[in-house]
Amino acid sequence: MNKNEPKSMQSQKPISYVFTRTRRSSCGGSTSATAPSRRSLSRLSWVSGRRAGRGRSGFVAGALVALLAITGCSGRPSYDLIIRGGRVLDGSGNPWYYADIGVRGDRIAAVGDLSTARAARIVDAGGLYVAPGFVDVHTHVGSGLDTPDRSAGQPLLAQGITTVLVNPDGGGPVDLAQQRRDLLEDGLGVNVGMQIGHNVIRSRVIGSEDRDPTPAELDSMKLLVRAGMEEGAFGLSSAPFYSPGSFSKTEEIVALAAVAAEFGGTHQSHVRDESDYTIGLLDAVEEVITVSRETGVRGIVTHIKALGPHVWGYSEAVVERIKAARAEGLEIFADQYPYEASSTGLSAALLPRWAQAGGPRALRARLDDPEIMARIRSAMVKNLDRRGGAGRIQFRRFEPDSTIEGRTLQMVADDMGLRAVDAAVALFKKGSPSIVSFNMNEDDIRTFMRQTWTMTASDGSLPRMNVGVPHPRAYGTFPRKIRKYAVEEGVIDLPFAIRSMTSLPVTVFRIPDRGSIRPGAFADLVVFDLNRLRDTAIYSAPHQLAEGMVHVLVNGRFAIRDGAFTGDLAGRVLSRR
Ligand SMILES: [Zn+2]
Repeated sequence: MNKNEPKSMQSQKPISYVFTRTRRSSCGGSTSATAPSRRSLSRLSWVSGRRAGRGRSGFVAGALVALLAITGCSGRPSYDLIIRGGRVLDGSGNPWYYADIGVRGDRIAAVGDLSTARAARIVDAGGLYVAPGFVDVHTHVGSGLDTPDRSAGQPLLAQGITTVLVNPDGGGPVDLAQQRRDLLEDGLGVNVGMQIGHNVIRSRVIGSEDRDPTPAELDSMKLLVRAGMEEGAFGLSSAPFYSPGSFSKTEEIVALAAVAAEFGGTHQSHVRDESDYTIGLLDAVEEVITVSRETGVRGIVTHIKALGPHVWGYSEAVVERIKAARAEGLEIFADQYPYEASSTGLSAALLPRWAQAGGPRALRARLDDPEIMARIRSAMVKNLDRRGGAGRIQFRRFEPDSTIEGRTLQMVADDMGLRAVDAAVALFKKGSPSIVSFNMNEDDIRTFMRQTWTMTASDGSLPRMNVGVPHPRAYGTFPRKIRKYAVEEGVIDLPFAIRSMTSLPVTVFRIPDRGSIRPGAFADLVVFDLNRLRDTAIYSAPHQLAEGMVHVLVNGRFAIRDGAFTGDLAGRVLSRR
């Protein structure tokens, strides 16, 4: 038996079930094939699941399940689908329990002992785990899902993700009605919830200038947030780390978050500083707390981290700040991806924000001005040190020169015969490379992950297969968290991990009727083999789908059946409750 199996599974020896019991059926008479008790059926299914297609017991069990499906009689409940005998992790954080799940249409109709019920289709989940579909609350997949070749979202489904939130980091389109139409145009493999982004709104109203909005401009920005919320957005996303959000003061974010709060929405923020670039990590987290204190909005410190050696070990202090805010009565949460590397643009990582004011053309003029360039250069030297040096920065995508993709800034600089910052400047003159940046410490990752208020999020994009060298989180986040941190290292336990990706995000973002296994909830369900569940994408070879999802249902329809994509596009664009 696999050493990675949880103790509860190891202690339960395979039992060859002997099918001899008889029992009254719900129809009043004795059933011809004798229906098994709940407990014995679970065991039977477990055996059949382990040996399906290989041994006689698997065949016998399968035949009996099929027989049960067709021996109908009037008065017995019937479903479109029954998922039978799985270990149910219902998303609440409770330990698994055996239950059958009956699906009718797009909803879960029953949870419990359905051994006497009928169904058009019965799936044997013996030996497998059943959980609500995973919810990814920080993704950059919106622009991929609205293209015909990627609308199915296969890298997401392979991880068990059935719902994503788009437009994080203050980004995405301003016109969410148009985004909704674009997303639906080619169909969707997963459900999508939208956020309305601060940075794009600021950019629309005042461009990339480094100044405060006038009162009239602030009113325009508030109107755009209101329009987004009325279109069903789940909340405001902000990113005062990035230009032009970086030019805003806290008061501006407060004014906009107040509009989101009016609608019961959230404020998810890529904080102003995850390191010690400007105001420092702790004050940056405090800014999110301030916005919640001023507006009552639910605040989310997104992809929570301590970025770079200068702030390694700060996780404890960040956790204390959030705990204190919660003790004060403020709803502060976080989300996190389970990797030691982040991903961003090289310019965001190295350039001082003042050099980016006015946009790309203004930046190029500054790079060509020797006096200003000297100031930029000295800031870049410090920022590179914050990131731990040029060996910790790996190029992800650079259209003007794809040969650098997958290589480090140090390697590229060596090839060019330049110092790292000068090589970076040479690249900025050609374009804007995106990077993977190795800057986190395992202890901090674990500390953040253990918190009850930390959700799971990938921060991933939806790459074209085999294009560029994207961060592996786009393919592996959810199975990786379960495999590495729950099963192998025991940093958290399995129900806690599942909760962080199901009921917790649904509660935080008020996503209606998802994220839990209960009658009435939408049938977004994953059925997985814990022994096989793993991420296979690695930094040097990221284009690999995760493994271990046996079935994935979106709105009651199979997106993955028996480990294969069905091509069905059952996803929807969701709206806030
Ligand atoms: Zn971000």
